[in-house]
Amino acid sequence: MREIPARVFRRAVSADLGLALKEDASEDDQRSGMADLASVDAYLSHFCPDAECLNCGAKLGGMFGSFEWGLTHGEGHCSNCGYPARGYHTIPGREHKPILNHMPFIRQYHPEALRDRDGRRISLSRLNEVFPPADAHEWEVV
Ligand SMILES: [Zn+2]
Repeated sequence: MREIPARVFRRAVSADLGLALKEDASEDDQRSGMADLASVDAYLSHFCPDAECLNCGAKLGGMFGSFEWGLTHGEGHCSNCGYPARGYHTIPGREHKPILNHMPFIRQYHPEALRDRDGRRISLSRLNEVFPPADAHEWEVV
């Protein structure tokens, strides 16, 4: 049997959105900014930073991108292979105030963030069944 190389999927972080602390901010603003960035990082850890589909490599955004809206508000998927993504993001912060509200950017779910209808994590072997690897990779998260 042919050895299939595994792919590593990085989790998105605030820096992927260009978010960073201002160097000249006051100590209080630095402290609250760090807390906000930690909230953004926690939220984004459920997504990958890539602008291309994790499964088939299609470009997701833009006029000719392969993103297609789903029935649930803000959710969608790659129209080429069906891998799920989110197009609108509301990132919760302190005291339930959103840090970013309804921000439009397409990011696909990290493979470990996918759950079935019963809330159980989808095993990587099942992920290979649902989204057959299009470019000779297997789902493997390191
Ligand atoms: Zn795809």
